[in-house]
Amino acid sequence: MSDVLNVSEIFGKNVFNDAVMKDRLPKNVYKKLKKTVEDGAELDPSIADVVAHAMKDWAIERGATHYTHWFQPLTGVTAEKHDSFISAPSDGKVIMEFSGKELIKGEPDASSFPSGGLRATFEARGYTVWDCTSPAFLREDAIGVTLCIPTSFCSYKGEALDKKTPLLRSMQAVNEQALRILRLFGNTTARRVAPSVGAEQEYFLVDREKYLQRKDLIYTGRTLFGAMPPKGQELEDHYFGAIRERIGSYMNDVNKELWKLGVPAKTQHNEVAPAQHELAPIYEGVNQAVDHNQIVMETLKKVAGRHGMACLLHEKPFAGVNGSGKHNNWSLTADDGTNLLNPGDTPHENIQFLLVLACIIKAVDLHADLLRESAADVGNDHRLGANEAPPAIISIFLGEQLEDVIDQLCSTGEATHSKKGGTLRTGVDILPDLDKDATDRNRTSPFAFTGNKFEFRMVGSSDSIASPNTVLNTIVAEAFKEAADALEKAEDFDMAVHDMIKEMLSAHRRVIFNGNGYSDEWVAEAGKRGLPNIRSMVEAIPALTTDKAVKLFEEFGVFTRAELESRAEVEYENFSKAINIEARTMYDMASKSIIPAVIKYTTQLAASISAVKGACPEADVSTQTGLLMEASGLLADTKAAVLRLAQVTEKAAGADGGIAQAAAYHSEVVPAMEALRAPVDKLEMIVDKELWPMPSYGDLIFEV
Ligand code: ADP
Ligand code: MG
Repeated sequence: MSDVLNVSEIFGKNVFNDAVMKDRLPKNVYKKLKKTVEDGAELDPSIADVVAHAMKDWAIERGATHYTHWFQPLTGVTAEKHDSFISAPSDGKVIMEFSGKELIKGEPDASSFPSGGLRATFEARGYTVWDCTSPAFLREDAIGVTLCIPTSFCSYKGEALDKKTPLLRSMQAVNEQALRILRLFGNTTARRVAPSVGAEQEYFLVDREKYLQRKDLIYTGRTLFGAMPPKGQELEDHYFGAIRERIGSYMNDVNKELWKLGVPAKTQHNEVAPAQHELAPIYEGVNQAVDHNQIVMETLKKVAGRHGMACLLHEKPFAGVNGSGKHNNWSLTADDGTNLLNPGDTPHENIQFLLVLACIIKAVDLHADLLRESAADVGNDHRLGANEAPPAIISIFLGEQLEDVIDQLCSTGEATHSKKGGTLRTGVDILPDLDKDATDRNRTSPFAFTGNKFEFRMVGSSDSIASPNTVLNTIVAEAFKEAADALEKAEDFDMAVHDMIKEMLSAHRRVIFNGNGYSDEWVAEAGKRGLPNIRSMVEAIPALTTDKAVKLFEEFGVFTRAELESRAEVEYENFSKAINIEARTMYDMASKSIIPAVIKYTTQLAASISAVKGACPEADVSTQTGLLMEASGLLADTKAAVLRLAQVTEKAAGADGGIAQAAAYHSEVVPAMEALRAPVDKLEMIVDKELWPMPSYGDLIFEV
């Protein structure tokens, strides 16, 4: 049967992966390249021409006409500039060319990307540099077939202008320090330790026709108005519910596209909210995982169009309905297969694991502000702390088993046993008894230990996972370094490591919390423990440039102070821009469609009252009059709120840039937007549906 999908045949079909390279490159070139990919050795530029040639031939055989350096500027989405392979015509003929130089280095116009002041306009040069550790791939779409080459993006002076460069630097840092820890425990064979990451991606699907009738969705990715439908998500009948036909065919298509690109898409299911879904890939090395998550987001959007739908990646497309996030599952894996976060069956005896765990706890406690910042984006301000996603307070969930081991260590100085999971009995004879996990799940924790990995659950659905992983890698590298510095000098290693674990745990256990993260009690308790509760993006950004952050990132060569300052600048700018667009879109929708619709409605209502009265003077028109009064009152409120929004937006737009401007948008424009939304959402419940100028929440989320 030809239409049977052979996954292993299409998987990685469009990737210039290891197997293709082995097949197409001369042995010595392949070996050299592999050394860079696997051991982090510096790339030998002399092989670039050979690799470029093989890559070009492979791409052209598959129909490619263009290549692009694919990079991740600070806009959060990927960027590319397409060049065709054709050379300058001679005798009216062109040949297809691609040199090593073109493979290794590109020069897009850097001035069109945010740099946060790193690059003065007179030195606009920026370079893209080939990242051979993430394989090139072919993208097939309406433009044709394009060879995409993952690259870093730096300024003329080598300062990072993107998300990949610092990520790669942080991988180097954690690799070096983690190896020191492994050596202390007698591991002499591991050559490399790399973070493994699996990012679960949530998204919404809505009908494209309806999407196109909502300017707010088009311009801002979320609804700025919208009354709640009579049925919300209270029945939760959607979660893991059977996947409907149209969605199923969409997911099938998404999977095929992703598999061709070597993205190991694994699970898919409906999420808590109606119209919400999730896709999770199998975990990979962090650099790949970051690139692949960008590809996942692009693919989800692209394929939705083909199926007559629109994919919303925004963190909060619908007020009052669960938002979307991204769970960043993170662990550390050595090239010999050891997962440093695997506790084994008896964690209390696994001293290496306990040291690694203690280091992570310390790192998260010390740098909670940085982790929080790494998950800050404009949309996430609606989610964090809103009882649907983790609170804005960073804490760690360890689960019963590890909590108990830590209790033993901290109280008696000795851990002698580990709680067991036991057996799950269903009470039904024909169902098998299962071994229970030693620890139940906790869905409210922002940073949860889940068996052999940590799951950082704060990240926003539309955000790149590069920053959270850059922070995680670096803060853990720091804790490892401090531990290794002391332990390498210790005379009695066993004693020293034992004392060190106990000390670290006692000093930092305040960040551990196993209870309900959504409760008010936790907010109060966290306050008592002195844990930061950073409620918004604007309040989170300063964490990037504290002395503590600068010292950390400079020590490990991940960011310079100038790079950090530039990033903070770009984030303020991104925030201001996003809110400015939202405010202007609201103004536009309210003035041009909503107010006119309400006027039409009230006019019709008034006419009908006169008509009824004329026909039958004794008729009771108090209902109509009441509606007219109510609608007219809300109309006046709307008009006043529109004027106020215009005023404060104007003022914020004119403010000095950076933090001052972002603060103005945050503290004045955002509340003015809420003040406009309130009367409009009430009007939507009154005004004739025929007259309402856009599809309702019910239309959008229940009719996909
Ligand atoms: P959940 O129940 O939260 O969906 P899963 O076990 O299905 O958890 O895994 C979620 C994600 O975590 C997947 O992308 C998976 O590949 C990834 N993952 C599993 N093990 C690891 C690990 N050791 N390191 C990093 N990610 C992992
Ligand atoms: Mg998860």
